[in-house]
Amino acid sequence: MKKKMTNTFIACAIVLIAFAAAFITNANACSDCKVNAAAFTGNIEERLPQTIIQKIVEDFINNPLVTGKERKKVLILGYDGFREDGLNNISDLENSAVLSIMDSGGLYHSFAGGLKDSPQAASTSPGWGSILTGGWHDYHGIVDNGLPKKDVPTIFESAVQKGYSTTFISSWGEHFNTVYTQDILRAQLLNEPSQYILAKNDEDSKNQTIEAIHQDFDIIMAIAEYTDNAGHSSGFSNDNPLYQEACQKADQWGKEILNAVESRENYSKEDWLIIITTDHGGLEQHHGGQSDEERNTWFAVNQPIAINEEWLNYHK
Ligand SMILES: [Zn+2]
Repeated sequence: MKKKMTNTFIACAIVLIAFAAAFITNANACSDCKVNAAAFTGNIEERLPQTIIQKIVEDFINNPLVTGKERKKVLILGYDGFREDGLNNISDLENSAVLSIMDSGGLYHSFAGGLKDSPQAASTSPGWGSILTGGWHDYHGIVDNGLPKKDVPTIFESAVQKGYSTTFISSWGEHFNTVYTQDILRAQLLNEPSQYILAKNDEDSKNQTIEAIHQDFDIIMAIAEYTDNAGHSSGFSNDNPLYQEACQKADQWGKEILNAVESRENYSKEDWLIIITTDHGGLEQHHGGQSDEERNTWFAVNQPIAINEEWLNYHK
């Protein structure tokens, strides 16, 4: 009798657990969403360091031209403070830049803020600094906002040495008056084909980026501030309609830039590497700390990438 009751209890428990599991799965599922957990190329345990973006770009530049193409071009679009779960706000967005590139390449989990318990803040200057140099704070020196980059090369400087022209566009002044000041001075002094443009706002940065595409620059990076601005003013959260809207605006800003790329006269003969990413996440109305909400980032790429294990050593 006791055994029968035990069996009945176990059977009931299994049914309850199965019911709960089904409920949880449904609660998290989005049948029409392209951007949910299933949309990512790797699983969440394979979260890549944001430094890998520099490696992907360098690898692309160093590899031979593919058959049928005459020129290599790179476009990096940055959505400042765009949380990973913010991607759910663009899952059925018309004119989404992320959706338009991820199917031909991939969408990856990544992280900001250095290795675990690092002093590197999950903030703007360290984040873009890691993306542009391929190292963490002990390499580029940007532990937090307000600090200049050490004299280590960015994607732009390496590309210029190989004969490419570059453009960096953002409406956030600290890139220009603190982080990359030495690079800007050197580019001017040596008359390098490398321009750094402080835009007035996101509309202006979009227009200036489209202009740089028309002007035939080879390596172009532009950053939109919609999401970071919304997060700081009213909360980095999908419960915040203003943040949701900012995610959509950022991605439509990106799509207008992609349209300019695709309308280039020689587009079919050009090999474009396109990456869309963010510098950090956010929590409540701030970021910089080591919580998952602040550290978790993502990137989308328009081409398949072969990840070299050495790239995961995080440092040069
Ligand atoms: Zn930022």
